[in-house]
Amino acid sequence: MRSFLLFLSRRKGLRKWMETSALAHRLSTRFVAGDTLEQALKVGRDLNAEGYSLTLDVLGESVTSAAEAAQARDAYVRTLTAIHEGGIQGNVSLKLTQFGLDISTEECRSNVEQLVRLAAEWNNFVRIDMESSECTDRTLEIVRDLHAGYKAVGTVIQAYLYRSRKDVEDLCSRGIRVRLCKGAYLEPASVAFPKKSQVDTNYVELMKLLLDRGEYPAIATHDEQIIEATKAYAAAKKIPREAFEFQMLYGIRRDLQRKLVQEGYRFRLYVPFGSAWYPYYMRRLAERPANLFFILRNLFRK
Ligand SMILES: Cc1cc2nc3c(=O)[nH]c(=O)nc-3n(C[C@H](O)[C@H](O)[C@H](O)COP(=O)(O)OP(=O)(O)OC[C@H]3O[C@@H](n4cnc5c(N)ncnc54)[C@H](O)[C@@H]3O)c2cc1C
Repeated sequence: MRSFLLFLSRRKGLRKWMETSALAHRLSTRFVAGDTLEQALKVGRDLNAEGYSLTLDVLGESVTSAAEAAQARDAYVRTLTAIHEGGIQGNVSLKLTQFGLDISTEECRSNVEQLVRLAAEWNNFVRIDMESSECTDRTLEIVRDLHAGYKAVGTVIQAYLYRSRKDVEDLCSRGIRVRLCKGAYLEPASVAFPKKSQVDTNYVELMKLLLDRGEYPAIATHDEQIIEATKAYAAAKKIPREAFEFQMLYGIRRDLQRKLVQEGYRFRLYVPFGSAWYPYYMRRLAERPANLFFILRNLFRK
């Protein structure tokens, strides 16, 4: 089921239908904070008031022209400006394929640089999400390059990839901030651990490495056991709560989110918004196919 949903996440025809259908649009609200920046800012202010920091994601990925990449960059500049001017406690997360990675690496780098430069000026931060393993080397190269110039940028490492320990060690040695996640794409066994238990074990090892040596790491998971393991490791090693943060996705495990905030841990919510929600949405369904039944049930409920 997971592979099938991830396969569907890349179907262009289905994506077009879903993103323009009123019925399907109703479904997206479970994981997406709205279509517009204004809607996302309203959600963001309410979340700030409840003690959550944010990272805003303007949905979109795999653009096919330089003009679309420039539009994405401009949408992010508007978002970062609104965060800055509105005094919102938050930063932005973006995908390089949305900034033109598959069209021209140089143009993509230049699009992201404009945003990172602004973030540096405003003492804010840009997180470069990690996409499929075809993008890993190019993503890390751009991140290293921009970090050397501006600092205000970090990235994501996926525990399901065999290569990740080496990447974490390299990023730590450069003082580049890492968000650790399990990984959300369909990857072959030649590059990624095929079993969930192997991914979880690797996640815990990388979490420890990051807490020991990382620059303000982000532990991004809804996995209660891993969250407890992180708390225990930080307590045992006397790592202060200000030295790292937990992150979760908008709409997932709100009970756990509230609990961490109440316990006084630093916490950031990943809040996506925009009309290009289909691939993001399908990856969320693939993580927990039971969501599919939950959503279908609600759809037909009055
Ligand atoms: C802040 C943040 C940023 C991320 N950025 C990236 C990125 O840049 N690149 C990338 O590849 N992946 C990214 N991910 C996704 C990540 O890789 C996982 O696919 C996702 O977080 C699910 O894994 P998990 O760690 O929650 O553990 P899992 O073992 O998948 O889930 C643990 C428990 O969490 C709950 N849960 C998890 N997912 C869902 C869901 N969709 N719906 C309902 N309940 C759920 C369930 O109770 C489940 O038992 C990000 C995740 C987070 C939290």
